[in-house]
Amino acid sequence: MFNAIVIEKEPHYHARLATLSEADLPKGEVLVRVEYSTLNYKDALAITGKSPVVRQFPMVAGIDFAGTVIASQSPEFQEGDKVLLNGWGVGEKHWGGLAEKACVPANWLIPLPAPLTCQQAMAIGTAGYTAMLCVQALQKQGIQPDKGKILVTGANGGVGSFAIAILAHLGYHVVASTGRPSETAYLQALGAKEIIHRETLSAPAKPLMKEQWIGAIDSVGSHTLANVCASLQYGGVAVACGLAQGMDFPATVAPFILRGITLVGVDSVMCQKNDRLLAWQQLANMADALHLPQISHEIPLNDAINTATALLKGDIQGRVVVKIP
Ligand code: NDP
Repeated sequence: MFNAIVIEKEPHYHARLATLSEADLPKGEVLVRVEYSTLNYKDALAITGKSPVVRQFPMVAGIDFAGTVIASQSPEFQEGDKVLLNGWGVGEKHWGGLAEKACVPANWLIPLPAPLTCQQAMAIGTAGYTAMLCVQALQKQGIQPDKGKILVTGANGGVGSFAIAILAHLGYHVVASTGRPSETAYLQALGAKEIIHRETLSAPAKPLMKEQWIGAIDSVGSHTLANVCASLQYGGVAVACGLAQGMDFPATVAPFILRGITLVGVDSVMCQKNDRLLAWQQLANMADALHLPQISHEIPLNDAINTATALLKGDIQGRVVVKIP
């Protein structure tokens, strides 16, 4: 028997800490003893039911996890291997990582990259991995540190915090946009050189605005992303990965056709395995520079449901790592 955060929709949508048996687990090639998981924005949506993230019920929540292989029918993994998983619909349509055990196809797992521990991997989690994919997207478009400033929106969130830390480590000049200017010291410690209030970006955008940054990583969407695009310098690149303000994108084509800007989308869920391996190896190589103790804090599995509500209210800073008993 093992514990898990289970989401059910009968008699009404709810999440609870439940006891399951191994026989309940979905079929998969690799059985993992989960050691750490995390609480992401998407997990909070799933646990609270605020958005239709969960596609099958009952569902075990948790879109990422790290742990040790207990049993494997795949030659890729042996008992005792340390592994991690992000996305692939886990916690949405396949039972996820907010549980003591998980059973998944082998090709969804990647070996834990040295020198990371399971705890460090989940302190980074889907947020850090997504931030790294966003930075790689900027680099692929030729945005190097000497080209200009990079704006990071949703700065106090998981993706935003890691985007700042990674960019600063790579030598970029980072401008952090936040609704919590009281956290200026935290953002500066991560490496932000300038802090702006998110209200300057959250109202409906004009087609073109003053050119301010050569690149941007946006986890907010909606009017904020429209403002980001309208204020990119000529030839600038915005990377969109989130929707904390909203899923809409009320922009005009003006910055695209008059300033030649590029908007790149990043998806961490179905991302190709080679890109994942590269992102995680780079994260592992710079782990010491990622301020993991400052960015993340740990909670026990039985606090995950309450913390999900606080996270959606914007009351949580950085990453929530869930220690699995
Ligand atoms: P968090 O909740 O940790 O952070 C979101 C941050 O956005 C908040 O901390 C806040 O930052 C800011 N924010 C919240 N509400 C608003 C608002 N109404 N207007 C403007 N800013 C707001 O979430 P994550 O960092 O984990 O995720 C951020 C987004 O990225 C989510 O939408 C998530 O779904 C998405 N995401 C997408 C992935 C992908 O594969 N594309 C993977 C991971 C996440 P502050 O207080 O500094 O203003």
